[in-house]
This record gives sequence, C-alpha cells and structure tokens, in this order.
Amino acid sequence: MIDRIRRFFRKKEQGKKQAGSKPSLPAPAVAQIEVTTRCNLKCTMCPRTHFSGDKNVDFPFEVFESFAESFSELNHVHLQGWGEPLLHPRIFDMAALVVKNQCRVGFTTNGSLLDDRVIGEILRLPVHHVAVSVAGADDEVHGAIRVGSNLDTLLGRVANLVDARNAAGQSEPVVHLSYMMTRKAVAGLPEMVRKAHEIGVDRLVTPNLDCPVTRDEEEGRIFGFGEPEKDIEKVLDEARILANKKKFRMSVYPLKLSDEILVCELNPLTQFFVNVHGDVAPCPYASLMGRTPYNRYFLGETVPTEPLVFGSLAESSMGAIWQQDAYRKFRMQYWNRRTAYDNLSKNRTSIHSVFGLQDYIREIDGVLSEYPVPPFCRKCYKAFGA
Ligand code: SF4
Repeated sequence: MIDRIRRFFRKKEQGKKQAGSKPSLPAPAVAQIEVTTRCNLKCTMCPRTHFSGDKNVDFPFEVFESFAESFSELNHVHLQGWGEPLLHPRIFDMAALVVKNQCRVGFTTNGSLLDDRVIGEILRLPVHHVAVSVAGADDEVHGAIRVGSNLDTLLGRVANLVDARNAAGQSEPVVHLSYMMTRKAVAGLPEMVRKAHEIGVDRLVTPNLDCPVTRDEEEGRIFGFGEPEKDIEKVLDEARILANKKKFRMSVYPLKLSDEILVCELNPLTQFFVNVHGDVAPCPYASLMGRTPYNRYFLGETVPTEPLVFGSLAESSMGAIWQQDAYRKFRMQYWNRRTAYDNLSKNRTSIHSVFGLQDYIREIDGVLSEYPVPPFCRKCYKAFGA
C-alpha cells in the first residue's frame, strides 16, 4: 500500500513537471491578525510576561487598510495575537473593514475593556464572534493567573454583552468563554460550567496551555502522552455531565495526546497568522514575539525557536506571499500527508476483522511517517492533538 501511495505521488510530480505547473494547494480561508502587542494585564502564562520581544507595538492602520480588499477572499478574520486587541485605538475601524469586504470578523479579549461603548460598537457592526479568556472559576485562581483581572467584574461585563445582544434581537456576536486548563484551574471547571451557563454565553472551550514558555509551565502540564491523571478525569466527567444536563455547549480539548495528527487544529493549509509587523506565519506559535527568537518547551526539552515567517503584508500582497516557494513547501508537507491518507481511505473498502483493522492502522502509521509534519511543527504539542 505504501508503495502504491509513493507511486501516486511520483506520478503526480511527473505530471506536474510535464505540465510545467505547480500543484494546486487550497486557498487561504482564515486569517488571525495581531492588531497589537500591548496589554493591560500580566498573565503568568503569556509569552509577553516572560520575553522582552516586540511588546507595545500597534499594527499600522494604513498597512491593514492596504490589504483589506483581500479579506473578500477569506471566510473569517480573527483580530488577535499576543496582546489585548481592544487596546488598538482603531480596532473597530479594522473590524469594519473586514465586514465591508464581506468577511466574518471576531476577536479574543481579556474582557477588561468591555464597557457599554465597546459593547455598542460590537453590536453595531456586528462583530460575529467574541471569545473572552478566563483562567479560574473563582477570583483567587483567576486573579493569580490573569494578574490584574477580577473574575466577578469580568463575568459581569460578559453578561452585559450577552444581555445587550439578546435585547437587540441579534444572534451575533457568538460569545465564548475560553477557560485555560492549567493545574490550578482544572478543579474549578464544573463551577465554571455553572457560571458560564448562568450568564448565557454560547459555549465554553477549554484550551490546554499548549505552548509552554517556561519550565514551570512545562512541568505543570496536565496533558501528555500518558493517561490523564484520575482526579483530573473525574473533574472533567463531572463538568461534562453538568453541561449535558444543562444542554450547554462545552468543548474540552484532549488531555491525552496522540501520534502526530494529520493536520493540526490551526490548519496551516488554509489558515495563517499575521504578526504585528505584518509578517505572515503559519500560526501564532510561529511568531510568538514578533521577529524575536524565543524558547518553548517540548517533553522536558528547551526548544530554541526562530520565528517562521514568509513575507510581510507591508511589502507584498497576500496572494504573492501565499504562493511564495518556501511557504508552499511548508504547506505541501501537510497537503501530501492529507492526500496520502485520503487515498488510503478511498482504496480501503471495508474492514472485516480485528486483523484487518490492525493492518489498516499499520498502513496509516506508515503513510504518516512517510509524510511527516514540517520540521518546525515536530516539537509543537498542537501537532499531537493538544
Ligand atoms: S503544529 Fe504547531 S507550529 Fe505547526 S502549524 Fe500547527 S500550531 Fe503551528
């Protein structure tokens, strides 16, 4: 089977050479744009707190405006990076440019600036999606991690946003709470389900601290390749049962990692990140502090990391950067992997026995090791489903 897949790609390559054209890759669909690296909190797990990179920079509005027309080719633009987006003085002008170009817009916020004026702006456009970050179900835990934020005040502001949306008879913005699953916060998850349901948010998501930037974070990880700790599983079950009972949507990220997954959740095949200077990267982890190198951790190892960017929207168009050779090569590695897997599935009609299933799993493993993820991703927990 592996040989068949190899032959398939060889043929594809030959066809490509004969036709003298580049194989087609999917077009971009989602952009995440870092509108500022300023922030009014000092969260313990944020790279901003630990690194001295490009802090306190705002994305130049004129640059944003210069490529705004290309949003018409995308489905969604998320205005957020390693900073608080509502601190950008022209955040709503930026959001309006996205909407004007027939594209959906959203942002993730720490919620500290979610007052009546901001809520009015969100509803006026409307912004389609607002995610608010929380780090604990009581103020002691939340405030110790998101230093400078008070949980009750924050949830009160989120409730005001939801109430104002409902009173206006609007279905948007969709409002999410994003509950960072740290060792300190995990016990409070059921309580957070209760609180989130009570204030009427649409969903609770529980991302992992999937890019540890300090040794403490790496050592305190609650996800990994082994079985999750029993106590933690119990809390998750309790939270799931409660959410089901209340018919409340909750999405829990896996705590047990798998082998390299086909394409990571941030799907660099169709999504990209633009840092505060306008540089295009495959994801926010590829440009944690703008153009400054940084250290991250993977399985106890320090991983010195050079930012991975493929050109700047301050100098070039989105289309030209997307087609740039090095960027295509990066995406091609994911594309080959996915195509090989699809091919394998297509050729497999049915599985009649456990042995057949084992063979199939072996074949999948073979294909995935034949077409590994790009080197940059091999020490990223997202490549393993975090
Ligand atoms: S695996 Fe990690 S580094 Fe690679 S694209 Fe996904 S999130 Fe980014």
